[in-house]
Amino acid sequence: LSDKLDKALHVLKGHGSITEVNVAETLKEVRRALLDADVNFKIAKQFTNTVKEKALGQNVLTTLQPGQLMVKIVKDELTELMGGDAEGLNLSGTPSVILMSGLQGSGKTTFSGKLANYLKNKKTKKPLLVACDVYRPAAIDQLHVVGEQIGVEVYSDRDNNDPVAISQAGIAHAKANGHNVVIIDTAGRLAVDEAMMTEISNIHKAITPQETLFVVDSMTGQDAVNTAKAFNDILNFDGVILTKLDGDTRGGAAISIKSVVNKPIKFIGTGEKMEAIDVFYPSRMADRILGMGDVVSLVERAQEQFDEQEARKLQKKIAKNQFGFDDFLKQIQQIKKMGNMKDLIGMIPGAGKMMKDVDIDDDAFKGIEAIIHSMTPTERSNPGLMNASRKKRIAKGSGTSVQEVNQLLKQFTQMSKMMKMMQGGGGKRMMQMMKN
Ligand code: GDP
Ligand code: MG
Repeated sequence: LSDKLDKALHVLKGHGSITEVNVAETLKEVRRALLDADVNFKIAKQFTNTVKEKALGQNVLTTLQPGQLMVKIVKDELTELMGGDAEGLNLSGTPSVILMSGLQGSGKTTFSGKLANYLKNKKTKKPLLVACDVYRPAAIDQLHVVGEQIGVEVYSDRDNNDPVAISQAGIAHAKANGHNVVIIDTAGRLAVDEAMMTEISNIHKAITPQETLFVVDSMTGQDAVNTAKAFNDILNFDGVILTKLDGDTRGGAAISIKSVVNKPIKFIGTGEKMEAIDVFYPSRMADRILGMGDVVSLVERAQEQFDEQEARKLQKKIAKNQFGFDDFLKQIQQIKKMGNMKDLIGMIPGAGKMMKDVDIDDDAFKGIEAIIHSMTPTERSNPGLMNASRKKRIAKGSGTSVQEVNQLLKQFTQMSKMMKMMQGGGGKRMMQMMKN
């Protein structure tokens, strides 16, 4: 999806002048991109028609920055298509009962844990997890592992193979023990079948949950839409959870599902860890689909962690050419605090594409840190001092090779240059570089 859209929007972003032919061509590309992302043909066509009307209505061709206005219209329309404002959970009821539904492997158990953790962190909530996947003993174990990890109680009954009875007993247990939220994890199958639908429907009828959530793997394309439709027909669910929206996944499924079942997407899962959960913001998803990166999320997360004073000091240093390895080390530590590298990089505009083939994990910095630690303070603040014998000593001290030390020095020089460039108002040039 992104490549095509990138191409389409490139025309608009790159060139100041837009012709009617350009608009038509761009809309065609946008439509093709949506179709590629498994958006229903009718929806895609309707979408581009609306965009065209708005573009003409706002006289895109005569404005100063037609490209930007066009992008804005496409973005606003996409946002609208995915549901406008973010929608929360209905947590009325004592306890409030949340029922998970979806295929096997969609991420129900993982998301149950994430949601319990998310609610628990809100302080006023005391969640209980209930294990209703009775077909695989490992499924019950999995939920217990998750519960232990996040410090949330799990209700299960290994001697009972009736999920309806277990869910009811779970709710009773919650009432008796002061839990105000009950999250019911259920069994799914690999494909929609009658047995699964009957079972989830029976649980649904028996417990009348406040929230019935449909969990879906965002990488499953058109199938996701069909599955959503099947579950919605039976359950008339309240919201959708899009999982596995890590890194580069563009989330075209969000458009298709929302359009077909017309239910809000409430949360997204962005990784296997319990913290990898986010409220779904249609406008951010629109940015992401358009390849602008989830800049807002990135900035927010960075702000949470970044010490402003530290940043200001650093800016001065860069300006004065005093940026050294100690500062580099600090930067690395900041970055590490911000969370999973892949998640972060995925949010940087253009970077997702650039870094697609680079395998980055959180350990990637280990060698770098070791090398810097093996430098003397003088070397750290004067990278220019480095010579062959120093490099040899550093390599030995850090258990790396001279080659690796050289590599780091090269990266460091590049990074310093890049930072200078961004400071010197070259930010725009940088962005352009990243896009191409
Ligand atoms: P269930 O069968 O619906 O209960 O699915 P699980 O919760 O067991 O998840 C299936 C697999 O997907 C597991 O390996 C999870 O770790 C993984 N998973 C779930 N959510 C995410 C996510 O948001 N991102 C990634 N990368 N993996 C996920
Ligand atoms: Mg499961």
